Amino acid sequence: MKLTVSILISVFAMTFAASSFAEEPGHACPHACKPGAFEMTHATGTLYCVGCALKSEFGAKVDCGKSGHLMAIKVTKCEDYCGDEKAALVGATLMYLPTEATKAIDGYKHYGATVTLSGRYYFATGVIEPEEVKFAAEEGKKG
Ligand SMILES: [Zn+2]
Repeated sequence: MKLTVSILISVFAMTFAASSFAEEPGHACPHACKPGAFEMTHATGTLYCVGCALKSEFGAKVDCGKSGHLMAIKVTKCEDYCGDEKAALVGATLMYLPTEATKAIDGYKHYGATVTLSGRYYFATGVIEPEEVKFAAEEGKKG
């Protein structure tokens, strides 16, 4: 009797596991992503100024001395909050919206620093809205 019950249970368990695999609800993402609009993303990269870079490479007529740097990151690593890699963004320049979190970034002091920006990545515009900014040194201490 006991054996029958445990066999039944394991059959149930297997059926359950199989069906959840088949449906692949693995993307019951617990994060605040909005399909087609934005995805919660961690993007790590090197801080640099798009204006200064284009000026030195192509002679773009920008004056960061007057307007301030136009900071972005050159992405070295990128994944969504579920841990899935977003390889398409690696190597790209990622602009970020000025938020409370990005106030921690000083275009002069942090030029060339490695930073992780976490927040909504908007597909339509290809910019990130950081809710959190972590410098590489801080991450190192944590891990
Ligand atoms: Zn600049």
